[in-house]
Amino acid sequence: MVAIMIKMENIETDIVIIGAGAAGLMCASIIGEDKNVYVLEHNKTPGKKILISGGGRCNFTNIHSSFDDFVSSNPHFFKSALSSYSPHDFVELVEKYKIPYFEKKLGQLFCKNSAKDVLYALVSECEKAGVNFRYCEKDLKVSYYDGFFLIQNDHVLIKAPNLVIATGGLSIPSIGASDIGYRIAKQFGHKIIATRPALVPFKDDHFEGLSGISAIVEIKTGRYSIKEDILITHRGLSGPAVLKASLHWNSGDKVIINWLPELDLEKLIYANKKQNIVTLLSHHLPKRLAQHFGAKLGTALDTSKKDIESLIEQVTRFEFIPQGTEGLKKAEVTVGGVDTSKISSKTMESNLSPGLYFIGEVLDVTGQLGGHNFQWAWASGKAAGKALK
Ligand SMILES: Cc1cc2nc3c(=O)[nH]c(=O)nc-3n(C[C@H](O)[C@H](O)[C@H](O)COP(=O)(O)OP(=O)(O)OC[C@H]3O[C@@H](n4cnc5c(N)ncnc54)[C@H](O)[C@@H]3O)c2cc1C
Repeated sequence: MVAIMIKMENIETDIVIIGAGAAGLMCASIIGEDKNVYVLEHNKTPGKKILISGGGRCNFTNIHSSFDDFVSSNPHFFKSALSSYSPHDFVELVEKYKIPYFEKKLGQLFCKNSAKDVLYALVSECEKAGVNFRYCEKDLKVSYYDGFFLIQNDHVLIKAPNLVIATGGLSIPSIGASDIGYRIAKQFGHKIIATRPALVPFKDDHFEGLSGISAIVEIKTGRYSIKEDILITHRGLSGPAVLKASLHWNSGDKVIINWLPELDLEKLIYANKKQNIVTLLSHHLPKRLAQHFGAKLGTALDTSKKDIESLIEQVTRFEFIPQGTEGLKKAEVTVGGVDTSKISSKTMESNLSPGLYFIGEVLDVTGQLGGHNFQWAWASGKAAGKALK
């Protein structure tokens, strides 16, 4: 029998960051050259989510980002970090690297060419600061002994007085999302706010056979309301309006859609009594959708008041409970995460375990669709990086 001996590598350093994603890279780049920083990542390469973000063009921030674009069960927590690092601060980095970018709409800034440009800028900043990267570091375990965090797997043991958890949320497990951040948080006494997928399409079969149709609608769920594009898919409903509504939707909640938010439908029908209702509707809605709503109706003159009222209700107050969402495989983010009540809002350091920091999506802070999640990753990464400098 041949015994295989794996030599354990021992490293001592100032700071370990687990996760080479948006927040981890920002944090590492800020800390600078005076400290010895190791970034540990279980993928072979950094920033996989950055690369797939914004359809490959990374919606890296939103110039109109405000506190209203974030949710957390501790609604004041994110204010300090976001106030200290504005969207313009990140634009400065983008401009420093001469990355071509444009405003798509509603303040959303995207790379003109590729998300690779943003990743390149962040990794270059880290390299300038002398950050050490270790990829393919799988199955990491953390313990604490005598003032040091011990981070190890079967071939390396790293000892550091400071540990930053930047392991993101649970969405898109196929590119490396894991629950390690929540496990470490629990190990050190932090609570986890229940997690769920968000910025995700709804599963629903009310509009079966109509996939491909898009329209500008108003969607309401609870107290949240948004007017934007919807897209009917073969599994349900998607598009920015639905993704945004999903941030405020919990399983079992009602959703109301107004398919004609800019129009008084009742007035339109009675002002054009002799016109076929489907023809009227199809001037304002995609034809297939108009037929779906009004298929059996004629003109207002030969249709009962009850049927017209029912049509108006269907078109302007379409009420349903989605069967669910398309889940973590399709979600852009995870709502919930490490409870922020025991985390410093200025430095992201744990109040329970000095030297332990949590940044980015692993925390119970979630941004709305449109560049706000990266803004949170940059701002929280910067806050911790500055404290660790
Ligand atoms: C398809 C898609 C598109 C998106 N588009 C946008 C957009 O355009 N604009 C926007 O603002 N937001 C977007 N987001 C959300 C945004 O990508 C995230 O909110 C952001 O990346 C969170 O940053 P983070 O650093 O906290 O986590 P991440 O960027 O996810 O980084 C976490 C890192 O930790 C690593 N990791 C996880 N577990 C372990 C482990 N056990 N051991 C070692 N390493 C580990 C991961 O591999 C990853 O590299 C999008 C998300 C998705 C899924």
